[in-house]
Amino acid sequence: MNLKVLKLALLLLTMTAIAPPTWAREGVEVGNNSAFTKLVPAEQVEKGAGQQYAQMLSQANEKKALAHKDHPQLKRLRAIAIKLIPFAASWNPRAKDWQWEVNLIGSPQINAFCMPGGKIAFYTGILDKLQLSDDEVAMVMGHEVAHALREHARERMGKSAVTNGVARIGGVLASAFLGIDPHLTDGLARGGANLLTLEFGREDESEADLVGMELAARAGFDPRSGVTLWQKMGAANKGAPPQWLSTHPSGTTRIADIQKNLPKVMPLFEKARRGG
Ligand SMILES: [Zn+2]
Repeated sequence: MNLKVLKLALLLLTMTAIAPPTWAREGVEVGNNSAFTKLVPAEQVEKGAGQQYAQMLSQANEKKALAHKDHPQLKRLRAIAIKLIPFAASWNPRAKDWQWEVNLIGSPQINAFCMPGGKIAFYTGILDKLQLSDDEVAMVMGHEVAHALREHARERMGKSAVTNGVARIGGVLASAFLGIDPHLTDGLARGGANLLTLEFGREDESEADLVGMELAARAGFDPRSGVTLWQKMGAANKGAPPQWLSTHPSGTTRIADIQKNLPKVMPLFEKARRGG
């Protein structure tokens, strides 16, 4: 354990704990990004993610599994992303400079992710197997984008840096801690993924649910679709290995949290639908 890093982490945590809310806003309440993010430079995380994303795309392309820009499902995903992205910067000012990308990978896996820096990918499996509506796609995309905006990967790296000591930061970065969002991933298919899986904690997961539903609502997508989305996800994941269950809030908890927060985001959705 490196004391300097530990002290810095404690100081950051204290500062965050006593900081008063700087603005009152409509929507969900999740507080500031984790203080642990500050231990690792955002540029480094985003650069690493960009490289990993590019590598993944070229591997998919070699296997003829990368959707062409005229693929109807890819056009649909990009149209949804264009509506969501304008609302991202209010969650993270860096997002307005991100080179956002949306791609579709031909794979039966139920999976989607957004890497740090706005690199989004959906697998055909999630669209086909769950027969997602546009509103449900927006909820998935919002959830994934929220992980990137709330810098959950950077937070994980910061926590690892504290646990392992500062000397290992380089190693942590090099180990490509950026990756697939495991809750969407087919347990069986996961082991075969090229990217290392990043296990987000329960807190990060519920934060991503709330921020994601707000992003979707502001973009004019019905946040009530979060309920049907997770019902579909639950049905598709029956028989998932216990590991999946241990790292993810149960479907019913998740759905209850979404329902509890609907009153906070329904006015935003109604306003967006009226064109306000
Ligand atoms: Zn997630």
